[in-house]
Amino acid sequence: MEETREALEFDVLFVGGGPANLAGAIHLMNLAQQAGKEIEVCLIEKAESIGSHSLSGAIMDPVALKELMPDFLDKGCPIEVADCRDEFYYLTPTGKIKMPYTPGYMHNDGCHIVSLSKYCTWLGEQAEALGVMVFPGFAGTEILFEPDGDRVIGIRTGDKGIDKDGNKRPNFEPGVDLMAKVTVFGEGPKGSLLRELGKKLGIFEGKMPQVFETAVKEVIEIPESSPFIASNTTVLHSFGFPLGLDTKGGGFLYKMKDNRVALGFVVGLEYEDPLLEPYQAFLSFKKHPLIADIIKGGKVLQQGAKTLPAGGFYSMPRLAVDGALIVGDSASMLNIQRLKGVHTATKSGMLAAETIMAAVDSDNVSAESLGVYEQKIADSWIKKELFAARNFGQALSQKGFGKFITIGAQYLSGGRGFTDPMPIEEDSSSLKTISDRSAPIASADTQDLDGKLYLDKLTGLYLSGTTHEENQPCHLIIPDPNLCITDCYDNYRSPCTRFCPAQVYELEEDPDGTKRLKLNPSNCLHCKTCEIKDPYKNITWTCPEGGGGPKYSIV
Ligand SMILES: Cc1cc2nc3c(=O)[nH]c(=O)nc-3n(C[C@H](O)[C@H](O)[C@H](O)COP(=O)(O)OP(=O)(O)OC[C@H]3O[C@@H](n4cnc5c(N)ncnc54)[C@H](O)[C@@H]3O)c2cc1C
Repeated sequence: MEETREALEFDVLFVGGGPANLAGAIHLMNLAQQAGKEIEVCLIEKAESIGSHSLSGAIMDPVALKELMPDFLDKGCPIEVADCRDEFYYLTPTGKIKMPYTPGYMHNDGCHIVSLSKYCTWLGEQAEALGVMVFPGFAGTEILFEPDGDRVIGIRTGDKGIDKDGNKRPNFEPGVDLMAKVTVFGEGPKGSLLRELGKKLGIFEGKMPQVFETAVKEVIEIPESSPFIASNTTVLHSFGFPLGLDTKGGGFLYKMKDNRVALGFVVGLEYEDPLLEPYQAFLSFKKHPLIADIIKGGKVLQQGAKTLPAGGFYSMPRLAVDGALIVGDSASMLNIQRLKGVHTATKSGMLAAETIMAAVDSDNVSAESLGVYEQKIADSWIKKELFAARNFGQALSQKGFGKFITIGAQYLSGGRGFTDPMPIEEDSSSLKTISDRSAPIASADTQDLDGKLYLDKLTGLYLSGTTHEENQPCHLIIPDPNLCITDCYDNYRSPCTRFCPAQVYELEEDPDGTKRLKLNPSNCLHCKTCEIKDPYKNITWTCPEGGGGPKYSIV
């Protein structure tokens, strides 16, 4: 029997509470206020509170925030460090070479270091103060279309209180239908609703594949006596060790307030080695003398992991459909050359708001009317930035030193380089089989993890604050579990057990050699690496019960 559900109606619904949608909602309220109009705006977020699924570097270019809220400092925007002074290193296993020259796009003059989690919490407060109805703890699990049509008319939030076997628990609450004239998808990387929108409306057709990087990040409290605290340097970036030059990725360390540093390591998910483990790469980076000396005597306060979109300009989907728009990382708007997406996400949210204001005013929310947003993006500095970086991620994915020649050529030709567009391969298809793998990538010695500064995955997971209702249906859909222990094991040694940074996937083996994949869905950090990297595309990530997941507060 069809469940009776509450339906709520709004003018505009923002799905996801990251910088893109928060900026969009704030800008829309401001525009409505300036025009003397009433507008009903709702924003939902699957995290328990706004900001608690937000993890980033983050060096924020305030260009868009200044447009959104010129008085952001007076309004208490939580800036960790106001000035960015960069150093850029090539790392060998024990040594370092400081780059004498860094290209302009790597400079962070005028940018601020923030904790994205704190920043989004603050933006959420600003949105609420303007009258946006902010509902954290609600996951969008289904897109609602007009009957027999393609127009998006809202979304359904997930039911709460369903047990593992699909039965109602005593605390059962059916999901709510949130209806809106315009729905804005700002789900961040690899949106689960966006995947469904893609299947129905083909928004990814004719575009390069969506590709991603995975990062593990920590906030570490270091001793006041650490020379790094007294130094002028606030930003370190590195490439080289432990991945070498054949696998894309690198590390970052940013100074924060209160003797804290943000430390992270990013791995391009087009990597080939089935035995590579991004978490181990993070540990190896952390143990490199450049980093180990800075963090010596410190203590990890919080850990987490998240993906970021790396496809850029050529991977951007169609941005407007009947009744809906797509913003920020969901639309692959991160500038991979600058490792920055907060400013582009913010600006895209604002341009979406401007488009929506006009569309709602004229009572026309068709794809054509909302398509003005595509033009606004094309006319803005977002397009300029992303177009200049359109082949950068592909160049970085090349092997060896040759990539620097390609990058140099792109630098001199406004992003064109030798081939334009350079092709992009799906992350799920890049793994070599175990028999074809080349030399191993240096991995950290896991023997001397101390549970304080150097953590195993489960201790790190504990410090992410991740919790889920245990008695709920598994949110990881694996249609063919047998594949995991047959072909996937034989060819790749079940890489999900390594690429997942939270030990969601474990391979168990009986004394007689029978293997089985054990799932720990409650560990999930919502990074979605599993759906992206699984070589058989045998994993689909769906939203667990709203409110579950990490509880980030300072990353
Ligand atoms: C390790 C790392 C380092 C980075 N460093 C930098 C940096 O230094 N500078 C910079 O500018 N950028 C950086 N970025 C990128 C930056 O964080 C993103 O570009 C930016 O956060 C994108 O904003 P967004 O709003 O599009 O998406 P997100 O910030 O991902 O927000 C999306 C939100 O939607 C929620 N959501 C998803 N699906 C649903 C659903 N179905 N229902 C309800 N809620 C949902 C999520 O929980 C999340 O809170 C970094 C990213 C990472 C991972």
